[in-house]
Amino acid sequence: MAHEIAGICHCRLCAAKFTGPTGLIIQPGAAQNGRVAQYMQDLAGHIITAHPVENKNMELQALEYLGLQRMTLYSTTDKAIMEQRDFLRWKIHQSTLAHRLSDGQMDAASKEFAAQFVDDALNALVTKPIGQDWPEHVKLLRSTLVAAVALKLYGIIEDFRRLIEEPGKYQLQVVTAPGTGSAAPKPS
Ligand SMILES: [Zn+2]
Repeated sequence: MAHEIAGICHCRLCAAKFTGPTGLIIQPGAAQNGRVAQYMQDLAGHIITAHPVENKNMELQALEYLGLQRMTLYSTTDKAIMEQRDFLRWKIHQSTLAHRLSDGQMDAASKEFAAQFVDDALNALVTKPIGQDWPEHVKLLRSTLVAAVALKLYGIIEDFRRLIEEPGKYQLQVVTAPGTGSAAPKPS
């Protein structure tokens, strides 16, 4: 998908400001555009020279990704290899997730859906408009059903969240093996 490049980039580490060519479109092949390429080079150059520690960390992350890619070319039954490979995949996944669902978002979505669903169903049975002069037993039925449906739906979304976001599958605790300097996977 193409989009316009912003005119100004602020470095989030030191607030240095860079002004780039405005109105240019980022799309496949755009890197060959001289002005965009130069701008990207300036931005990358600043990180390399002004923030060497952060840059070094990013290089290590890139190497981990390369390692993961290489390991995907092997099929194995070696549990240690499988776990190391999965740990690297998980680590990259955690650092690139664009969104995480909060408990509050899941709660609001579940309740909103449940209320709509139950009201639609009851409205088909009770001829009066939603909520107006409904008999007490229908009101009670409504609140019981809304709570039950919302709870069930929350559980389903929570299961999907666990499956997709994989929170706490491993701990990012650095366990340095002598001489390797690498973090070992630590299943929780
Ligand atoms: Zn900076």
